[in-house]
Amino acid sequence: MEDPVLVKCIVCGEEKQEGIQIASEFICDACEAEIVRTDVMDVKYSFFIRQLKQIFYKQNA
Ligand SMILES: [Zn+2]
Repeated sequence: MEDPVLVKCIVCGEEKQEGIQIASEFICDACEAEIVRTDVMDVKYSFFIRQLKQIFYKQNA
Protein backbone atom coordinates (compact mmCIF):
# COMPACT_ATOMS: atom_id res chain seq x y z
CA MET A 1 0.00 0.00 0.00
CA GLU A 2 1.37 3.38 -1.00
CA ASP A 3 1.71 6.21 1.44
CA PRO A 4 -0.52 9.13 0.53
CA VAL A 5 1.44 12.19 -0.43
CA LEU A 6 0.49 15.04 1.85
CA VAL A 7 1.22 18.59 0.81
CA LYS A 8 0.79 21.63 3.00
CA CYS A 9 -1.92 23.96 1.72
CA ILE A 10 -0.76 27.58 1.63
CA VAL A 11 -4.25 28.86 2.45
CA CYS A 12 -5.43 26.76 5.38
CA GLY A 13 -2.02 25.44 6.38
CA GLU A 14 -3.27 21.87 6.64
CA GLU A 15 -1.68 18.91 4.98
CA LYS A 16 -3.93 17.53 2.26
CA GLN A 17 -3.77 14.94 -0.46
CA GLU A 18 -6.03 16.51 -3.05
CA GLY A 19 -5.53 19.95 -4.50
CA ILE A 20 -3.92 22.11 -7.12
CA GLN A 21 -0.39 23.32 -7.53
CA ILE A 22 0.13 27.01 -8.32
CA ALA A 23 3.70 27.92 -9.07
CA SER A 24 5.57 26.13 -6.31
CA GLU A 25 2.67 26.32 -3.88
CA PHE A 26 -0.22 24.01 -3.14
CA ILE A 27 -3.86 24.84 -2.54
CA CYS A 28 -6.12 22.06 -1.32
CA ASP A 29 -9.41 21.18 -3.01
CA ALA A 30 -11.46 22.68 -0.19
CA CYS A 31 -9.67 26.02 -0.33
CA GLU A 32 -9.74 26.12 -4.10
CA ALA A 33 -13.49 25.61 -4.02
CA GLU A 34 -13.74 28.35 -1.39
CA ILE A 35 -11.77 30.76 -3.55
CA VAL A 36 -13.96 30.04 -6.57
CA ARG A 37 -17.10 30.57 -4.49
CA THR A 38 -15.88 33.62 -2.64
CA ASP A 39 -17.48 36.87 -3.64
CA VAL A 40 -15.24 39.86 -4.22
CA MET A 41 -16.96 41.73 -1.42
CA ASP A 42 -16.54 38.86 0.98
CA VAL A 43 -14.16 39.46 3.84
CA LYS A 44 -12.51 36.14 3.14
CA TYR A 45 -11.54 37.34 -0.31
CA SER A 46 -8.89 39.68 1.04
CA PHE A 47 -7.55 36.82 3.14
CA PHE A 48 -7.20 34.59 0.11
CA ILE A 49 -5.60 37.34 -1.93
CA ARG A 50 -3.10 37.94 0.83
CA GLN A 51 -2.24 34.26 0.89
CA LEU A 52 -1.89 34.16 -2.88
CA LYS A 53 0.32 37.24 -2.88
CA GLN A 54 2.80 35.33 -0.76
CA ILE A 55 3.18 32.95 -3.67
CA PHE A 56 4.02 35.73 -6.10
CA TYR A 57 6.39 37.42 -3.68
CA LYS A 58 8.23 34.14 -3.28
CA GLN A 59 8.43 33.73 -7.03
CA ASN A 60 9.93 37.18 -7.52
CA ALA A 61 12.39 36.77 -4.69
ZN1 LIG B 1 -6.50 24.42 2.22
